[in-house]
Formats: sequence, C-alpha cells, structure tokens
Amino acid sequence: MQRFARTLRISKKEYGLQGSIVVLAAARSPDNCPALVLNADFRPLSYFPLSLWSWQDAIKAVFLERVNILEQYDRKVHSPSFEMRLPSVVSLKTYIKPARNPAFTRFNVFLRDSFECQYCGDGEDLTFDHVIPRSRGGRTTWDNVVTACAPCNLLKGGRLPHQTGMQPRHRPHRPTVMELRDNGRRFPPNYLHDSWSDYLYWDTELEP
Ligand SMILES: [Zn+2]
Repeated sequence: MQRFARTLRISKKEYGLQGSIVVLAAARSPDNCPALVLNADFRPLSYFPLSLWSWQDAIKAVFLERVNILEQYDRKVHSPSFEMRLPSVVSLKTYIKPARNPAFTRFNVFLRDSFECQYCGDGEDLTFDHVIPRSRGGRTTWDNVVTACAPCNLLKGGRLPHQTGMQPRHRPHRPTVMELRDNGRRFPPNYLHDSWSDYLYWDTELEP
C-alpha cells in the first residue's frame, strides 16, 4: 500500500479539480464507505470519475442480486434480523457494453482538454469558450467548444480567433473513449481504499 500512499498525496491543484468536481468528491468521502463498481469483466465502469456507489446503493444492488461482492469494509450495518459488512468492491453480474462515443458533457470537455485553459494553460477558474462565438454562428459541439479560464474567456469575448490572436492549443475535436480514459488516468482520485487497489492500475502505471 506504500505505493498508493504516495499517489494520494498529489495536491488538489496538481490534478486540476475545480468547483463542482470538488463537491462531487465530498459526496464520495471515505466516511461514507463508497463501493468501487466494476463491470462484469472486473474493470471499473469508469476511471475518472471513478465509478463509486454509496453504500446504500451497493447494498440495494446486492439484495437485487445485480452484483457480486468482491471485497468488504470492516464496518457493518445491522437490522434486527441481519448484519452484514459493507461492500467495498462489487462487480456487475451483467456486462455493460461501454459507449462507443463519449457523451458531450462539460466534464468530458474538461477531461479532453486535461483541465487546462486552451489559451494560456491555466488550470484555475475554468469555463467554456466557443472558438467561433455563438453570436457569429458558432455551434456548441466538440469541434467548437474548448476549456478556457475565465480571464481568457473574457479577453476573447465575442471575437473570432484571428481577431484576437488567441488560438486553442489543441484543435478541438470529438475524443475517443480511449483518449478520455488515457487522460483520466493522469488524474488519479484523491482517495482510494486499500481494497480497491487490486482492481485499478494506477500503481502499476506509476511504478512498473
Ligand atoms: Zn486562460
């Protein structure tokens, strides 16, 4: 577990967590004993954000016989008639086919752009910029929306890239699932329970 301990000390800034994502992380705090959810092939359903369920959802799925329990916490839940240890890793009984194309969401745009402003590289105060402004007919699509920090967004305003000399560092494009997953691996979660380590591969990536 030593190896993991080291990855956990990556600062919040280093992996670019901002606003709403921090809130999401709080909801998945270790105190709530979240369960790592694996597909039927024992890979996490998603790496970033890591596929986690609340312990309540995990227990519900156990009783509905939708998942197998692979690992458990020491913590138990009781009712008058039964007692069980909270699941810490579960796997789906039915394989879910991963989507072929990533959803066009704010989160995935940030992830594609590695949580960096595409104009100055800053990772703070991130927003979205339409490369061709909406007022000029620019659409809200993978190939026209980029991550931009608020100051750059403000600076660019409603002007076209050639009018401001501000060109995105990477040509905006629709990413593949693979590309997003690779980007996600560069941003390990800030908390990993020991029992999850066998099912994730950040450690082997960092120290082969
Ligand atoms: Zn910027």
